[in-house]
Amino acid sequence: MKRSLTGTRFTSQTGILQLMDDLGKALSGSRKKYMLGGGNPAILPEIAAAWRREMRALLEDESRFDRAVGQYDTPQGRPAFLKAITGMLNREYGWDLTEEHVAVTNGSQSAFFMLFNLLAGPGEDGIDRKILFPLMPEYIGYRDQAIWSQDFRAFLPRIERIDEHRHKYHVDFDALEVDDDVAAICVSRPTNPTGNVLTDGEVARLSALAKEKGIPLIIDNAYGTPFPNIIFTEVRPVWDEQIILCMSLSKLGLPGARTGIVIANPDVIGAVSAFNAISSLAPGGVGAALALELIRSGEIIRLSREVIKPYYQQKAEQAVTQLRGELEGVDFYIHKPEGALFLWLWFRGLPITCQELYDRLKQRGVLVVPGHYFFPGLTEAWRHKQECIRVTYSQEEAVVEAGLRIIAEEVKRAYL
Ligand code: PLP
Repeated sequence: MKRSLTGTRFTSQTGILQLMDDLGKALSGSRKKYMLGGGNPAILPEIAAAWRREMRALLEDESRFDRAVGQYDTPQGRPAFLKAITGMLNREYGWDLTEEHVAVTNGSQSAFFMLFNLLAGPGEDGIDRKILFPLMPEYIGYRDQAIWSQDFRAFLPRIERIDEHRHKYHVDFDALEVDDDVAAICVSRPTNPTGNVLTDGEVARLSALAKEKGIPLIIDNAYGTPFPNIIFTEVRPVWDEQIILCMSLSKLGLPGARTGIVIANPDVIGAVSAFNAISSLAPGGVGAALALELIRSGEIIRLSREVIKPYYQQKAEQAVTQLRGELEGVDFYIHKPEGALFLWLWFRGLPITCQELYDRLKQRGVLVVPGHYFFPGLTEAWRHKQECIRVTYSQEEAVVEAGLRIIAEEVKRAYL
């Protein structure tokens, strides 16, 4: 097959492809695997029961079901869902959103594809614009999204050592430069892979920088408030006409429904709708139909606060406690877990690369993600990139416990 340049770019070995491949193989193979690599949320009994209940209610309401599966939504999404989402956000946060401020996409992953390529790349004015990631490390899924491969710019963090084994990354505002060729600033909050949550102060400064430059600030809220609320610190959610807030139903337990939600000014929403129309006519409506009543009633917020958040917070604490015990004697740091499903482990002076550690762990049936994939747009060499791995703690207790034990064994072996 003769491939176009775009075809070659999107079919070469990408980080996200390796991750999804390993995830699929791990789930389908017969050998015992400890799946600490992927981004699958846990299947929580109370949440799964809520989705099954909503599915039954949808099936029983024949006209609602027939419309949900038998009709295309508009390229912006189904009006009733757009209304429910804006109503919920306005009630919760006192925002002033209308249906013109929201669009649905087939997962938030595809929203990033649209947004990055809407904004970055060569423009009619001859300027080749970039998406700026102000805080490394950042989500692996951004890495290969730009059709023009050079469209990212990234900045190293300031590392705060909280104590002997805990650290936190901060935006290094002294080093950060937002040049005229920057199309947008983008952060995930909580951050995948680190579990970091940018402080309100950091978000306010980034937002002010974006305003000053007249560019959007994209905030990836896949784990944030009000749902799924996998966030362990108190932060203030923000939105204004300069901010593009991306949300998702995936970490609520619906990754199979592929439903992303973009909250932005009507100009951006018009563009996302146009991309939707071209790439898929309309976003899938089943996830939105399932979630509609839970969003209208606010029940989704209660479930997120009372069931989802405590589950992950407890899992995070348990994993940290175990690792602190098992890694005794190793010069390691764990990023302060403030949200999302992951622990970010930094092994200072690790004598092998994180890719090698990944390979050794894979041999033993443990899947993690090597840290070096989480630096989209960072061109400079930085040893730190090779000293970290991302570990998912969302899976069942026995799996996480056994996986962490093997990780600690292999890390210790690497230092011998
Ligand atoms: N953003 C972040 C930070 C993520 O971790 C993920 C998935 O893991 C996504 C976006 C994409 O999620 P989805 O396309 O399932 O909405």
